[in-house]
Order: sequence, then C-alpha cells, then structure tokens
Amino acid sequence: MTVSTAGTGVETLVLVMGDQLSPALSALRDVDPHSSRVLLCEVADETGYVPHHRQKLVFILSAMRHFAAELRAAGYAVDYVTLDDPDNTGSFTGELRRSLSRHGASRVLTTEAGEWRVRQMQHAWRGGELGVPVTVLPDDRFICTPEAFASWAEGRRELRMEFFYREMRRRTGLMMESGQPAGGRWNFDADNRRPAPAGMRFAGPLRFAPDAITSEVIDLVGRRFGSHPGAPGPFWLGVTRRDAGAALEHFLREALPGFGASQDAMLAGEPFLNHAVISPYLNVGLLDPLPVCRRAEAEWRAGRAPIEAVEGFIRQVIGWREYVRGIYWREMPGYRDRNSLGARRPLPGFFWTGDTPMACVAAVIRQTLELAYAHHIQRLMVTGNFALLAGIDPREVHEWYLAVYADAFEWVELPNTLGMSQYADGGLLASKPYAASGAYIRRMSDYCRGCEFDPRLRTGPRACPFNALYWDFLDRNRAPLSRNARLRTAYLTWERLGAAEQRACRESAQSFLATLDSS
Ligand code: FAD
Ligand code: SF4
Repeated sequence: MTVSTAGTGVETLVLVMGDQLSPALSALRDVDPHSSRVLLCEVADETGYVPHHRQKLVFILSAMRHFAAELRAAGYAVDYVTLDDPDNTGSFTGELRRSLSRHGASRVLTTEAGEWRVRQMQHAWRGGELGVPVTVLPDDRFICTPEAFASWAEGRRELRMEFFYREMRRRTGLMMESGQPAGGRWNFDADNRRPAPAGMRFAGPLRFAPDAITSEVIDLVGRRFGSHPGAPGPFWLGVTRRDAGAALEHFLREALPGFGASQDAMLAGEPFLNHAVISPYLNVGLLDPLPVCRRAEAEWRAGRAPIEAVEGFIRQVIGWREYVRGIYWREMPGYRDRNSLGARRPLPGFFWTGDTPMACVAAVIRQTLELAYAHHIQRLMVTGNFALLAGIDPREVHEWYLAVYADAFEWVELPNTLGMSQYADGGLLASKPYAASGAYIRRMSDYCRGCEFDPRLRTGPRACPFNALYWDFLDRNRAPLSRNARLRTAYLTWERLGAAEQRACRESAQSFLATLDSS
C-alpha cells in the first residue's frame, strides 16, 4: 500500500531511510514542509540482504511507520510505501523513480547512508541516474566525521581507541574539568572489569507492549519472513522517540550506577545485567549520542552514579561507537574481505539454533534468537571467541552478527566483528586477538556450572573445548601472532607445556574441529 497526501507544487522529494528516523536529520532540518514531500519506503533489498532476525525487522519497520505518523502530525506530506504494496519495486532507486513520477518533484534531497552499499547507490543518483538533481547531505548525528577521523588517523603508526577517545572528550567537554579529565584519570576501567558482584540485582530494560501499528508489522513479518531466524515474539522493543527516551531514563535510574561493576560479567538467565540496551535506538536515530552522554554525565554530577560507571558508559558511546565508524569509512570497501588469519571453516549450524553442549555458547545463541540482543562480552568473549578459536570464515561470522542483532548495521557491526572479534584486519582495530580459554569464561560468568564440560581440563572427553582450541589457535597462528608483545606470556606458557601436552592439545582441538566439520 502506498499512502501519500495529495498536494501541489512539490519541489523537493526528501528520502529518509530506516536508520535515519530523527527529526533533526540533516535532510529534514531545513526543508519547507509545504513545498516538499518525504518518502519512506520499505524495500526488499534492505529486508533481505542478510536473513535479519524477525524482531529486528519488526523493530525497524514499525519505527519507520511511527516516524512517518509523527512527520505527518508535524505537517509534512509523507509518501509511505509498505513492503506489501504490489507495485513496490523492492529498491530505493525504483521507489525514488516511482515517487518522482507520482509527484513531479524537481529535486531529491537525502542524508548520507550509513552503509557503503547504499552510499554507492547515492553516488549513482548524484551522477544523474534519477534524471533530477540529487543532494546528499552529511550525516551529522555523530560526533566525529569520517574526514576528521581520517585526519586524526593520518600518519599514526598504530590506531588505538584510547587516544581517539581522549580527543572526543576534549571536543565534547564531557567529564572534563578545567581542561583535565574529571577525577584525574581518562579511564576508570581498572575499577570495572570484574565478575558480577554477589547479590547484585538487575532491573532489566524497559519493555514495550506492541500497539496497533506494531501488531500489523508483526503480522507482516510473520507472513513474509517465516524462514528468517529468531523468535517472532514476544516483541519488546520501543519504536518511537518517546519510547527510546523512556528506555534511556529507566537505564539511568536503574542500571547506570552498577554499569561499570558488571560491565564484563555474564550470568545465566540474566541477558541484560546493567547494560543500557539502547543501541537499537541510537542506531536508527530514536536517540542521539551526545544528549544521551550529557544525561549520563548529569547523573554523575548529581551524585546518583559513580564516576567509574559514567566514564565507562560515555567511553562506549563517544569512544568505541565513533571509533568503529571512523575505521569503517576509512577502510571500506576492502575491509569486508579481510581475513588476515586465513580462517576458512564454515559457520557451524548451531549458530542458528543454539543446539550445542557448550553451555556458554548455547546460552548466548538462544538468548540472541529470543531477544535479538546480547551484551558486548557475550558477543566478544563467547560466540566471537569461539568463532575465532575454531577458525570460522570471518565473512560468515560477519553475516551472522549482521543478521541476528536488532542493533546491527554494517558500519558498526563489521569493525566490531571482523576487526575486534575476529582479528581479521591483522590488528588494525585491536592490539591483540580477543582469544581466551575456558578459564576466562569461568571467571567472568556462571555458565560453567551448568555445563557438561570442565573448564579446568585441557584435554580428554570432559575437557572444555575452549581450552584445547585456545592453545591450538595460538600454535597454528604462530607466524602472524608470536611477535605480538601482548601475547608473549601466552606463548611462553605454551612452550612450558612440553611436547607431549602440546601434542595432546593439538589432537584434542583437531578432533573437536572434525566433529564440528562433520555436523
Ligand atoms: P552498553 O554496553 O550498555 O553500551 C552503551 C552503548 O555504547 C551501546 O548502546 C552502544 O551504542 C555503545 N557501544 C558499546 N560498545 C560498543 C562498541 N564496541 N562499538 C560500538 N558501540 C558500542 N554494536 C552495535 O550497535 N551494533 C552491532 O551490530 C554490533 N555488533 C557487534 C558485534 C560484535 C562481534 C561485538 C563484539 C560487538 C558488537 N557491537 C555492536 C558493540 C556492542 O556489543 C553493542 O553496542 C552493545 O552490546 C549494545 O548493547 P547496549 O546498548 O546494552 O550496550
Ligand atoms: Fe563454556 Fe567451557 Fe564453561 Fe562449558 S566449560 S560453559 S564450554 S567455558
């Protein structure tokens, strides 16, 4: 169905995409609602380039429909094309052409797309493909432009997030006092990275009941995407700016004070701990990063949250989030094809079901399929760590992460997966691989208590697979990794194991990997 408000004298057609749902978007900011029309379209190219989790599809499509309703209420004429419109061409280019012929607009205005793939389309539109002039404005919802990141990175021997983050603190003034970092330190991580403190209670994120629009989208997604992964419901995410604001306030009140203390912890049956669960909202434009950080800072200044929690949270948003975006735009398009460790194994089928005896991996995958959410350490140190140690092809790992999380958009997902988690960029993003044995998971979680494997055993049928895989990973990647100073102790420990134990580790890993390949 195409819903549009009839009007005359349309000069500008403004294309707004599903991750641009902000009234302050550059393409919307200065247009005159009376002489322009806003086009939002649900296109098959976007819903199908990976098998997106069904709740991710519901989230984005419902948020788009709600945004269109808000724009109409604010006086904009909106052209909205639904996925099941029989005339829907399935592409942005096709829908722009149709909308131009419907309304006779004399120019197109849009904001830079967040993904390389769509940016290429925008280049073609600007090159004359649509037959009218096309203006593509910068996306200024970020703190650092790709150009500013590139000039920060220029000439540096190595790129490290910590130094970039300090620049962002100076630029924004967040947690700064008289030009110095508040509390006398840039980084309070040393106070944070611990297992969950005993007795800590977790409120969990705010959940939202589907309204009529969301229920309609749930039906649509159920009908069209039955083969996609993920439980169809219960759907729980917010879909409006107001919902997202309420979710943020809930986090600030209930979880921010404990954010640092449990940041790296994992607990069975506690998918969220004290994480903010705001990345889907930030990534589609329902929240903006700078005001989010200013609200968190205000909680610290009011004495309601400790400095280590607030600094840790702000570092994720103005540090990591901006940093990975800078890497993405600096390194694409070649970045997606990098595979520095030559990992070639196909993604095991249990990534789509959670059907594995490894309790930690099963818990994270099942939670992911149920909620379209896992927190950072689950993504990095359980599923990501497993894929790294087992030598899974980074391209397949990337496509899995891009599909299954509600917050997954390539600019943020790809550097996190391919760079941080799989070390496939050879250390451009992370100074060492995030590889760990079962001892790490045992220390930081309670998963091992419910597992048929023993994290203290290196080899044998009851040994935790992460252990032999860890040593085998270091051994088989000796050439690219052994000169890394941060792995020196690990290689020394491997040498000290002696030839017989090393052989047993290799054999144990190989027999586990053979089972993986045959399953
Ligand atoms: P919190 O832990 O509460 O952090 C607050 C906010 O900081 C997040 O909402 C997010 O916006 C930002 N943030 C934290 N860490 C990162 C990071 N490493 N990179 C970018 N932003 C960060 N994040 C995505 O938004 N989309 C993705 O597709 C995505 N894929 C990932 C894949 C892998 C393999 C890994 C290891 C991490 C990935 N991340 C991704 C980063 C991070 O895991 C999520 O941002 C975070 O788990 C979102 O949950 P939260 O809102 O509860 O985050
Ligand atoms: Fe995971 Fe190993 Fe612990 Fe089992 S024993 S939960 S596989 S770390």
